Amino acid sequence: MKEDCIFCKIANGIIPSYTLYEDDDFRVIFDLGPVSKGHALILPKEHYANIYELDEEIASKVFVLAKKMATAMTEAFGCDGFNILQNNNEAGGQTVFHFHMHLVPRYEGDGAIKFGKAGEAVEEKLKELEEKVKEVLNSK
Ligand code: AMP
Ligand code: ZN
Repeated sequence: MKEDCIFCKIANGIIPSYTLYEDDDFRVIFDLGPVSKGHALILPKEHYANIYELDEEIASKVFVLAKKMATAMTEAFGCDGFNILQNNNEAGGQTVFHFHMHLVPRYEGDGAIKFGKAGEAVEEKLKELEEKVKEVLNSK
């Protein structure tokens, strides 16, 4: 646990929260600034600042839990769709620096989350980017 981290305190029950689900590794709470009705967050109990720091076993468990929660929340709230979202670093829109996954129920026409305007895929550029990623992966 990180002393000055609010999500460590919430995940470990030091600060009380509406808890939708809890197990040894995670707590799922409602977001206090919901972008849609029922917006929730999966918090690991251990502190990891972001996806780069995230333990691999926790990483493998978090999406299984996201599926379980999305399925239950969809039935409970009668939502029409669902977004699962995870921000990293300030440039990636992260504001609380304890890894978390957003569970966002979506309702027809709610406009809760929008992607930026689509750009254009240029073949040469894609080739260059593909090579860069493969180079890094192959160096590990
Ligand atoms: P992100 O921008 O991905 O770091 O998301 C942080 C989220 O945490 C935002 O959606 C906030 O509304 C939410 N949030 C911040 N503080 C709290 C809190 N004490 N309890 C519940 N949600 C919070
Ligand atoms: Zn933390």
